[in-house]
Amino acid sequence: MARLTDPVTVLKGVGPTKAKQFAQLNIYTLQDLICHFPRGYEDRTRLVTIEKLEPNVPACFRAMVMNTPRTSHIRKGLDVTKVQVADHTGRLNLTFFNQKFTTDRLQYGKEYIFYGAVSGDFIGYSMTSPVFEELSSQPVTTWRVLPVYPLTAGLSNASVLKAVRQALAICNPPEEILPPAVRERYGIPDAQRAYYAIHEPSSMEEAELAKKRLIFEEFFIFSAGLSLMRAARAGKKTRPYEKLDMTAFLQALPFQLTGAQSRAIGDIRRDMQQGTPMNRLLQGDVGSGKTMVAAAAAWLAVQNGMQAALMAPTEILAEQHYQSLTKLLEPLGVRLCLLTGSQTPKQKQLVRDAIARAEADLVIGTHALVTDSTVFSRLGLVIADEQHRFGVGQRSALFAKGKDPHLLVMSATPIPRTLSLILYGDLEVSVLDELPPGRQRVDTFLVDESYRARINAVIRKQVQGGNQCFVVCPAVEESEELGIKSATVWAETLQNTVFPDLRVRLLHGQMKGSEKEAAMASFARGEADVLVATTVIEVGVDVPNATLMVIEDADRFGLSQLHQLRGRVGRGQAKSYCILTTANRNPQTVSRLKALCATNDGFKIAEEDLKLRGPGDFFGTRQSGLPVFRVANLSCDLQTLKQAQQASKEWIETEGTAQTPEGVALRQRIGELFRRGEGTIN
Ligand code: ADP
Ligand code: MG
Repeated sequence: MARLTDPVTVLKGVGPTKAKQFAQLNIYTLQDLICHFPRGYEDRTRLVTIEKLEPNVPACFRAMVMNTPRTSHIRKGLDVTKVQVADHTGRLNLTFFNQKFTTDRLQYGKEYIFYGAVSGDFIGYSMTSPVFEELSSQPVTTWRVLPVYPLTAGLSNASVLKAVRQALAICNPPEEILPPAVRERYGIPDAQRAYYAIHEPSSMEEAELAKKRLIFEEFFIFSAGLSLMRAARAGKKTRPYEKLDMTAFLQALPFQLTGAQSRAIGDIRRDMQQGTPMNRLLQGDVGSGKTMVAAAAAWLAVQNGMQAALMAPTEILAEQHYQSLTKLLEPLGVRLCLLTGSQTPKQKQLVRDAIARAEADLVIGTHALVTDSTVFSRLGLVIADEQHRFGVGQRSALFAKGKDPHLLVMSATPIPRTLSLILYGDLEVSVLDELPPGRQRVDTFLVDESYRARINAVIRKQVQGGNQCFVVCPAVEESEELGIKSATVWAETLQNTVFPDLRVRLLHGQMKGSEKEAAMASFARGEADVLVATTVIEVGVDVPNATLMVIEDADRFGLSQLHQLRGRVGRGQAKSYCILTTANRNPQTVSRLKALCATNDGFKIAEEDLKLRGPGDFFGTRQSGLPVFRVANLSCDLQTLKQAQQASKEWIETEGTAQTPEGVALRQRIGELFRRGEGTIN
């Protein structure tokens, strides 16, 4: 027997090349492989005779090859192979294009299982490029429910499938973590069966049940982890803050707080008087003014003799916060400092010394702040901006930095209330549901390709007016998917053929961190007119001079994600616009996108998204501040999430600390889940 922790190279047929390809999918060990779940299934179980094949309805049939396949070279790049097969009910001509390598395997007089659909005319039926394999008790691609795996270049579905099958044969799947009573109550299969059935289901129903079990499991682990974290924090004591007068702070503000900001600050003040550490999530749409609430919280901490740390997901964002908060708080006597990865070691050391000697009150930095060796003298408050870029594990690592500091996490992703109760089970929630006065709405339009000339004209007009534009594409490189705009190619096209006289820059997630920052910073400084980007620009950065956002192939994005993207414009005085392009005419898609044009309310949009796409979407786009879920982002329903949360709560309350085998396995899995995919920024 092999172990789950063994590398995939213990499998037959997996050498260094394959191993590298698997690594592209984050698969290193047998466990990773077994936990590489299909993203869907294709039901290929229907087996018929040739006579019963119906046009355009794919099915399997068993047939004998009646002649030696003949390949003709039609022209460069086009080979056509023809072969005839038969069973006792009839004959069928098969045609393959450019598959000589495959069809060479077909031997005259031998039987195979084929899978495909016939197309027909009045002369008779024929079939193009069916899948086939030899008869076997364990078919790979035919006569079964076929799992469809997420793939990477060079790795076919069949090769993943074979590797998984081998792995399941030589080692046991992950241990059971669900107590028998829970499994029984919710009617879910045990771990052994579920891990097997998710890859080798005997029916679509079995696949569904296995998936349900694994989603349930993942959420059970997640919720149990949150409950444990919450329980650990709830027992802690802190000194209740006493200096709560906010007059000086309020007088220093250049504007009046919105009602929502006042309420959120009120929540925070109350938390800080309690004598237990605050655990609060501040949810507010883009532009709702979360930074001011953070400033108020920091100010309160400093008033009470404590240090505060504000973490931002990127350096530019950290610098922006540093600048705006310095302007506000320094006159009030708060000593601020900035700590980012690009400072020289010497600069960093100076800052760290100041922090350790308590000569800095408010430290603003990137999450390097957490991971590196910064020591605080008396850290009382930690604020994480754009929480969805921080993992739960980082959240808990933060607590270790101070003596049970207060925690305020801020997120612009309007997670629907139903979902946030589950996802942020360990946090109290304050919502900024009101925008500062005078904010203009971003007018949003949905158009198709016939508007291309007009879109270009709008871009040009904005630039001529002294403003800047974002153009967002769904893909980085051309090859990723046919017909989908790639940022790289589109940036070139715009620069070379459409706007040779304008300054076009490129920004995407595959660029190095420093290159990304440089591109973004230079755009923010106004050194480019058009920034062509992928969704990396989703978060935080303020470029008030940007007044237009064009989102290409908008149907490729979730509604909430589109809303986030749109939030990058409309941050200054000038009227701003968002243009969504799509070639997709599916009425459902169109109405989804039209919903976005009709409202600027992030929560409404999020609820709509939840209805249309299910909660999985909120995990998939890494907007939720959650660990990387393996199954839950494939598809899941609220019902399963709620059940898993309920079950884990009960587990914690009744036998949470008991040393059952399930309990021990569960604790280990909590650690794994919370560490996985930490701190990744697109
Ligand atoms: P977000 O919630 O997206 O982080 P910010 O905190 O960056 O929003 O605020 C967006 C803009 O609104 C900033 O320029 C900020 O100065 C301004 N702002 C914040 N609160 C108010 C207010 N109460 N009145 C007017 N402007 C405000
Ligand atoms: Mg912000």
